[in-house]
Amino acid sequence: MAVREIVLHPDDRLRRKCKRVSRDERGLEQLIDDMIETMAEAHGVGLAAPQVGVPLRLTVIRLPEDYDDARAGEVIVLVNPDIVKSAGEWEPDEGCLSIPGYVANVKRQWSVTVRARDRSWREFRVRGEGLLGQALQHEIDHLHGLLFIDRLESMDQLRKVERESAAAT
Ligand code: ZN
Repeated sequence: MAVREIVLHPDDRLRRKCKRVSRDERGLEQLIDDMIETMAEAHGVGLAAPQVGVPLRLTVIRLPEDYDDARAGEVIVLVNPDIVKSAGEWEPDEGCLSIPGYVANVKRQWSVTVRARDRSWREFRVRGEGLLGQALQHEIDHLHGLLFIDRLESMDQLRKVERESAAAT
């Protein structure tokens, strides 16, 4: 495994619409392992393939160990994820490993259900509420070339922070 360099905004590689992963995608196992290691090194809750410069529909998420959720501490690998259901609204603090040092309150759905494949190509569904739902939406936005700042009405909503927030994805 290797830590890869995280692409920072502004960079065109964060703005591409990512392609679906094919079953025989070359280097997929290595890419997934590297993304997990890169996310851990950066203390992120999630990381999407375009953040390491790869335009594929692939993302990894890991909720903090101490987070109150059955999936806390578990790495979730999502290949070709699609949101199939969403409900509720909230406006949590959000940050991004590609926009270090800034957070803002972003309008998100409270809960989302995502259909994806795991690294063994098995189809599964994950329903996330709160932080997990937020991370799923944030990462899937990346796969469409969208950043959380695109969801703000004004850049004045950005706040500078000393350290990365727990929700940096
Ligand atoms: Zn991000």
